Amino acid sequence: MRAAQIEQPGGPEAIKIVELDDPRPGEGALLVQVAAAGVNFIDTYQRSGHYPQPMPYVLGLEGAGTVRELGPGASGFSVGDRVAWSGVPGSYAQLVTVPADRAVRVPAEVTEEQAVGALLQGMTAHALVTSTYPVAHGEDVLVHAAAGGVGLLLTQLATARGGRVIGTVSTEEKAALARDAGAAEVIRYDQIDDLAAEVRRLTGGQGVAVVYDGVGKTTFDASLASLRIRGMLVLFGGASGPVPPVDPQRLNAGGSLYLTRPTLFHYIATRKELEYHSGEVFAAVADGTLDIRIGHRYPLADAAKAHEDLESRRTTGKLVLIP
Ligand code: NDP
Repeated sequence: MRAAQIEQPGGPEAIKIVELDDPRPGEGALLVQVAAAGVNFIDTYQRSGHYPQPMPYVLGLEGAGTVRELGPGASGFSVGDRVAWSGVPGSYAQLVTVPADRAVRVPAEVTEEQAVGALLQGMTAHALVTSTYPVAHGEDVLVHAAAGGVGLLLTQLATARGGRVIGTVSTEEKAALARDAGAAEVIRYDQIDDLAAEVRRLTGGQGVAVVYDGVGKTTFDASLASLRIRGMLVLFGGASGPVPPVDPQRLNAGGSLYLTRPTLFHYIATRKELEYHSGEVFAAVADGTLDIRIGHRYPLADAAKAHEDLESRRTTGKLVLIP
């Protein structure tokens, strides 16, 4: 089978397309033919060595496809079922083995590409607006990179809960996408000097109840300064780089603020949680209330280009690789 592998950490050019032996499904695992693999920011952290992995390493943690074979003891699925998964290494490949307890069935109304967009990014957005900080009707919510993969989903889901979303973006095309997703206000954060002051102006001086910040290094200070008293900063990623150490006293000075650094895997650690978040997201995709925007499709051979595009802020919505 063909796969996109790195032999050592590096830039996008470290990704090589290689021919590997077909994997065999071990105890409790499914062998799946991958129809679409999801490209996520975490893949770039693994590629660059920011999140170290054993080498050589086949990139990709997420995908959707068709079950080809069941390993010993694997249950709950049959050959031919359409399944999706996230958090399973080796997904930038034609074949991957997926532990059956980490696979979810893709409903008939949902395409494989939509399933890929719905899973890691969709469940992340869903967990952030329902569990990390449950957005309530009428609350002001700040979403950074609102036209990105997670950003478009956060904007839609927070708006559906009655939140008033203020989105930040870096281009006019992205501003239009954020508005289409439901953002009531959009800020071009590349064009203003004082982001927090603009957020305060848009919220009658109060600040927002919650900031969903996946940009990190360049937005962190403005995110803290944009919160209302007892507001919560949900720092869920660092697309612009990691945030330096923070003095807890800043939370006091900012108004008894809350700071959390969540990762999806702790919200879907049990089968019940995985089924809850994936089920809610798939149902919303199936009934048309959640739009999964596939922004870019690449053949597996262009995995390096996909990383380059994602890291250079050129992309919108979800990126998928077609092996
Ligand atoms: P996006 O599609 O959102 O791409 C990143 C966006 O961040 C860019 O398009 C850009 O939007 C913005 N950005 C701002 N500064 C930079 C910069 N210096 N370099 C690159 N991008 C920048 O990616 P994803 O949806 O895949 O991921 C978004 C964030 O969510 C990431 O930080 C990721 O790690 C995190 N994440 C966290 C998870 C968790 O479990 N905690 C799970 C999934 C994702 P603009 O041009 O508008 O500024």
